[in-house]
Amino acid sequence: MATKSSRKKASSTRSKRTKHKGRITRSKKRVAGKAKSKTTKKKSTGKPTKTTKRKSKRLTKAQKNQLILRNKIINEKLSAFLDETGFTLLKILLEKRKISEFKLASLMNLKVNKVRSILYKLQTRGIVSFSRRRDKRKGWYIFTWEINPKNIIKYVINELNSDIKVLEKKYHLKQEGKEFFSCNECGVQMSMLKAMETNYLCPYCGTPMQVIDVERIKRDILNEINAIKKKIESLKELEKVI
Ligand SMILES: [Zn+2]
Repeated sequence: MATKSSRKKASSTRSKRTKHKGRITRSKKRVAGKAKSKTTKKKSTGKPTKTTKRKSKRLTKAQKNQLILRNKIINEKLSAFLDETGFTLLKILLEKRKISEFKLASLMNLKVNKVRSILYKLQTRGIVSFSRRRDKRKGWYIFTWEINPKNIIKYVINELNSDIKVLEKKYHLKQEGKEFFSCNECGVQMSMLKAMETNYLCPYCGTPMQVIDVERIKRDILNEINAIKKKIESLKELEKVI
């Protein structure tokens, strides 16, 4: 019997403690709230900075979606694996942000399998994610897909960065050999040592090979790298407003 009462005591002190805890967190929240309002006040009284300008021009969801869908750099990278149907799906997904695959299929008038195959393409690239729950009545799983538009931009930036890596490799390869030869007929390129082996004739079609201006090629590669870097910068700016 004594144990029962002690248990009761323990539970009552526990409840007191939790009540106390609750009070602490509430007061903490209040302090955090105050601190927040202070900082916002500071910003509004100061001279208009870039960030406040951007805040006042906050874009609507539809405007953000347009910025993504109409962006040439994004379009180019996505069209490597999305066809017209894929872009339609992406557009709907951006409008809804979260949607079940059955709803998506009926909106697009497509079979669920087709919709799913497009979604998987987006998922493997980190653009969409899914959650599933069991339909208690029917017993099957319902997959709900979610898109974070920032992840589209992140994916494209990653792709551009790997393009830069490929170009850098190309650049360093050109650095190693001083003279290069190429066949104007089939576009084959090789070092002077290799070209000497075939008497400067193309090993594929026998056409005499031409000397390539390596310095010019290297300059072209650097220009290409810089152009991609500019693209990345513009996407990073876009990411801030999305
Ligand atoms: Zn050739």
